Amino acid sequence: MAIETCERCGGQTAKVVKCDYCSRRICNPCVKSSKRKKIDHRYICKGCWGSITKRSMYKSAN
Ligand SMILES: [Zn+2]
Ligand SMILES: [Zn+2]
Repeated sequence: MAIETCERCGGQTAKVVKCDYCSRRICNPCVKSSKRKKIDHRYICKGCWGSITKRSMYKSAN
């Protein structure tokens, strides 16, 4: 399995997901919250969670 580098903390991890609000590829500890949607997941990183704008976008997304 390929090892990936988290673009937020620089950590090495086997699994990264993409933050839907800054498009960075982030590791699990950097994911602040995730939502299951009909077709896939929506992720927000801890960085974007600190932004009121992005956080409210996340909360209003279905
Ligand atoms: Zn990280
Ligand atoms: Zn983000």
